[in-house]
Amino acid sequence: MTTAGDPSPQSIRTGVEYIDSLRGRNLAVYLFGERVAEPVDHPVIRPSINAMAATYDAGPDDLDLATAPSNLTGEPVNRFLHVTTSAADLVAQGKMQRRLGQVTGTCFQRCVGMDGINSVFSITFDVDAAHGTDFHPRFRAWVAEMQRLNLVIGGAMTDVKGDRGKGPAGQADPDLFVRVVRRDERGLFISGAKAHQTGAINSHWLLVMPGQRLTENERDYAVVCALPVTAPGLTYVYGRQSCDSRSLEGDLDVGNAGFAGQEALVIFDEVFVPYEHVFLDGEFEYAGELVERFTAYHRRSYVCKAGVGDVLIGAAALAADYNGVPNASHIRDKLVEMAHLNETIYAAGIAASHEGHRTPAGNWEPDVLLANVCKQNVTRFPYEMGRLAQDLAGGNVVTLPSEQDWRHPEVGPLLDKYLRGRVDVPTEHRLRALRLIENMTLGRNAVGYLAESLHGAGSPQAQRVVIRRQVDLEAKKVLARRLAGIPPDAA
Ligand code: SF4
Ligand code: FE
Repeated sequence: MTTAGDPSPQSIRTGVEYIDSLRGRNLAVYLFGERVAEPVDHPVIRPSINAMAATYDAGPDDLDLATAPSNLTGEPVNRFLHVTTSAADLVAQGKMQRRLGQVTGTCFQRCVGMDGINSVFSITFDVDAAHGTDFHPRFRAWVAEMQRLNLVIGGAMTDVKGDRGKGPAGQADPDLFVRVVRRDERGLFISGAKAHQTGAINSHWLLVMPGQRLTENERDYAVVCALPVTAPGLTYVYGRQSCDSRSLEGDLDVGNAGFAGQEALVIFDEVFVPYEHVFLDGEFEYAGELVERFTAYHRRSYVCKAGVGDVLIGAAALAADYNGVPNASHIRDKLVEMAHLNETIYAAGIAASHEGHRTPAGNWEPDVLLANVCKQNVTRFPYEMGRLAQDLAGGNVVTLPSEQDWRHPEVGPLLDKYLRGRVDVPTEHRLRALRLIENMTLGRNAVGYLAESLHGAGSPQAQRVVIRRQVDLEAKKVLARRLAGIPPDAA
């Protein structure tokens, strides 16, 4: 098993070791029109690295959530690299995701790889059973190595897609979906681009998967493979986020100076992948099923937003406290409404895990209908929660002067006097709570809390298609006919 490009032969144990493992990789990362010499030290990128580092730093209380015994080696491994073998494992993933949402207040990026390895695990098993291939043992060997080293896997599924009215084979430019462009006796070469790649630059390896159903003339696009992020031929273009440049200016105006999400455009230019790391190669008829299994995991993973919602509810409650009106009945009612919406997200995600089932490969998959209901809730409820948080915060959430004015020797004391709420609360605390609400509902982490909630793991219509397919309307009509006294065979 080679680990070419692996920055560390030792297992990574802490967030600090993780951050060190990202140094000196000389990736081709572009941001604001320049190649970034060292992403770890870039003030706009660093908060996203901190959020990923949090996935290594679970405290003793969180240990049961953060690790689990590997079904491949029996060793304790990070849960983000664990193949689930029970409904309890799926539930523990969801609880861990909520916890990390609470700690970071944003997207901590490591779930796409987790959901990728769980879906590819069962797909490779099924492909081998049908075709006599040996993808599954290869995949197990690779995952075991990732587990041993405790590396970050970025799941790379979403192609740039070009003309949405056409599939991969119908595009004028064949590179708009990642595909095999040539091969030799050692392996394949892939070209194309993947969009919105969560945490890609903060990863050690990428797990490339097709993003949609494919047809027989699209075999070159039916490729699942793993490659180190340092592989020659990869270019990363950083996706900028609303208000991200505030990270260059100071701390107070950022709202959440420690943590942020990360999305990047990843461009593949004839990137070589040895056959040892190829886990699907032309079996086009499995692409749709792989996407469906992946989305069952990933749409339920969006319980992460319940953790982020906990932070927003807390910030809204703080703002109300600092305004001196924590006990007004309409304030309390709005906080209850936020909690109700947030727990509804969580309830569907946890239920999808509880109602999971065993696959023939031996791992566990969430309930598809409930996973899609969870994600559909996530496309809507955070927006309403954002509206309520802004309502509770008041107009200052969008009119506060800057940190520079706050620190100005003449204007600062005036702001301290006139922006104070309750007399016993320092004005700066009030400003910080309001900036956090701005950060989560309009600013940098609104990317993760709102727009990513809408589009991540498939836009709302994608869930509605699955919900429609999963809901057995005929069975429900049978129930209704029986109680209404309509003969069972009547129209
Ligand atoms: Fe994980 Fe949530 Fe980020 Fe997706 S949006 S990677 S589920 S934290
Ligand atoms: Fe996502």
